[in-house]
Amino acid sequence: MSTGMPILVVDDEESLRGLIAQILTEEGHDVTQAASGEEALAVFRKDQHPLVITDIRMGGISGIQLLREIKQMRPETQVIIITSHASLDTALTALRAGAYDYLIKPFDDLELISAVVNRAVDKINLIAENRVLIDKLKSSNLELELVNRLLQELAVRDGLTGLHNHRYFQEFLAIELARAQRYERVFSLVILDVDFFKHYNDTQGHLEGDRLLCVLAQLLKEWVRKSDVVARYGGEEFVAVLPETTREGALAFAESLRQRIADYAFPHRETQPLGSVTVSLGVATYPENAIDGPALINFADQALYRAKRQGRNVVC
Ligand code: GH3
Ligand code: MG
Ligand code: MG
Repeated sequence: MSTGMPILVVDDEESLRGLIAQILTEEGHDVTQAASGEEALAVFRKDQHPLVITDIRMGGISGIQLLREIKQMRPETQVIIITSHASLDTALTALRAGAYDYLIKPFDDLELISAVVNRAVDKINLIAENRVLIDKLKSSNLELELVNRLLQELAVRDGLTGLHNHRYFQEFLAIELARAQRYERVFSLVILDVDFFKHYNDTQGHLEGDRLLCVLAQLLKEWVRKSDVVARYGGEEFVAVLPETTREGALAFAESLRQRIADYAFPHRETQPLGSVTVSLGVATYPENAIDGPALINFADQALYRAKRQGRNVVC
């Protein structure tokens, strides 16, 4: 049994129209009647019924014309045509023009009317349900895509500072290395470590220490070029990859960064051993200092240790 549906019944013959309306109303449908094609169009323009049952032969607008106009306004509306044995060929024309089905009058079997109508009602309901399902699928696909993108982004970001993380740095380094090898280009690596950071944590607490790392990360992000990548290597160590940058260029970059950090008014900087928050930096350049990733990192690390041994707040 189908659920109630708004149905427009169109026939200029009042008794027949009334009979169909009565049967469908008893079936629980919400029936509107129209006595001509013109009246039906006026009703339909205001209220686009999902199902229309119309006689073919009427004075004025014919059932076929009505069918065409309705299909143009709302293709998903189903139209059932009422025809007589004598004009079965017009029924075929109607089917070709998009009618869902036809009924032949006079009606020998009234149950046939509800059977044909309820089949149409089921089709309409199925189409509507399908549409809801498709919309749901579309929106959950979109949600999945967004979540995926977010996850991908999170996977390469450091949770504390929002900078790229160690994994991203390694991937980027591999790509940059391959590019430099293939096109015989240079690039540099700068590793940077906060001086006496344990002291900062010990005197200000770890939360203030975290905050300092965030401010420093922001400073680094602003300092590098768009084509450079800066990442949190781990703990209070950061790393920058500088494509197309010679050793001289990288040393100049590191020195200006060192100066900028030493001058920067970090909170509580006066409590640090050097009277300021400072960093030590190690520089390595491809291919001058090393020709593979681990060797480059190692070279920059050794340079960083030398900077520490020289008293910190130094570039090597
Ligand atoms: P140096 O000048 O030789 O680099 O001295 P240092 O104190 O900076 O170096 P050390 O390796 O002794 O200490 C590093 C400290 O950084 C210890 C560790 O607790 C702290 N640290 C590492 N990661 C974090 C972090 O995410 N947040 C905070 N607050 N501290 C961190
Ligand atoms: Mg360290
Ligand atoms: Mg340190």
